[in-house]
Amino acid sequence: MSKLVRAISENGGVVVSILDSTEVVAQMEAFHHPSAVVSAALGRLLTGALLMAATLKSEEDSLTLRLKGDGPAGLLLAVADGRGNAKGYVEQPCVELPVRADGKLDVGGAVGHTGILSVVKDIGLKEPYIGQVPLVSGEIAEDLTSYYATSEQIPTVCALGVLVERDLTIKRAGGYLLQLLPGASEEEISLIETNVGRMQSMTELLEQGHTVYEIIDMLLSGFNPNVLDETAVQYHCDCSRKRVEQIYRSLGQKELRQIASEQETVELKCQFCNKAYTFKTADFVKPDPAQQ
Ligand code: ZN
Repeated sequence: MSKLVRAISENGGVVVSILDSTEVVAQMEAFHHPSAVVSAALGRLLTGALLMAATLKSEEDSLTLRLKGDGPAGLLLAVADGRGNAKGYVEQPCVELPVRADGKLDVGGAVGHTGILSVVKDIGLKEPYIGQVPLVSGEIAEDLTSYYATSEQIPTVCALGVLVERDLTIKRAGGYLLQLLPGASEEEISLIETNVGRMQSMTELLEQGHTVYEIIDMLLSGFNPNVLDETAVQYHCDCSRKRVEQIYRSLGQKELRQIASEQETVELKCQFCNKAYTFKTADFVKPDPAQQ
């Protein structure tokens, strides 16, 4: 099972969340069967959502990343909660694009280079917290960094990566979120810049067999990091017949009546796990008062 590890520098100025998300992204791939570039895009978004959800205060809290760019993949959604569960959805899973000149999958091309990233935090208040930033590149890590800089004023380094095999299975996936807390000194900031500048990509490091603990030591070299906590994470959809029924009912009587006049049953699929729920359309039609 994938594990998310959080560590903090000895003097408390720098905190890192890191995740080898290979299994989570592989589970996503099994549900959605996306093309390679969409696997990379949704895999990065899921990994980012899990890393960000690790900063939530309560297990009951949840965080949704909603990425709406002008690219062919359309809307991408990733939802993660304080218990380490994540699920994702993409509007167009089958987008095919040529690889970039540097040999990498063109995630920014699939997502689009302009659009909006929304971060929705449901932290048990009446209304969820919503922060929005324009996309920087659609490559996702840069967009999450920009969100933290703009909406939360937290200096952040984010790295996300997904390596897809030729047969479309997920070879490696992972990422980290490094954040400077208000106490960080100029010296610490410049040392972090040096450390980050030396880093290979997350998927390269995982490919070489490095553990997340070793990668923490590289990122926080010179900071004597201590592990704060570890959370098991997984792709998990919490949909239920009742919840899908509520969504169907919310179409309203006029629409429900119309559907019932055309078909006896209706099959609705959960957009996160593709589980199908079948309902009798007549069960949702209230008697027409005009005919009583
Ligand atoms: Zn589901």
